[in-house]
Amino acid sequence: MTFDYDDRNIFARILRGEIPNSTVFENDHALAFKDIAPQAPVHVLVIPKGPYVSLDHFAAAASADEQVGFFQAVAEVCRISGVDEGFRAIANTRSHGVQDVPHFHLHILGGTRLGRMLP
Ligand code: IMP
Repeated sequence: MTFDYDDRNIFARILRGEIPNSTVFENDHALAFKDIAPQAPVHVLVIPKGPYVSLDHFAAAASADEQVGFFQAVAEVCRISGVDEGFRAIANTRSHGVQDVPHFHLHILGGTRLGRMLP
């Protein structure tokens, strides 16, 4: 599997500061911001700063520092957002996963009891 990153995607533009965002947390390796069309009271997107298309690309190609930094950002988002009673993390991946933006992002959804979905 090869991954071709297209840096014209909207999250790449957010990382370059070309488009505003509602930042929740940032560190050296990740940015977390509010989803523009929230599907729950808490709906935050966590993205790596590196050019990774998808979860499997990130897992295969990002350095250990990038991966640790990313998950530290996830932890901070959960702490800041007050999702103590739970949340859902989703990484839509490519065509079958119905991924719209081709820059890896993890959706963090919470703040209410979410409807059941597969699996
Ligand atoms: P995907 O289907 O997993 O790729 O989800 C992309 C998400 O990005 C959707 O939930 C959109 O609402 C969100 N989104 C698109 N553009 C922006 C933006 O400019 N700021 C914040 N969220 C965005």
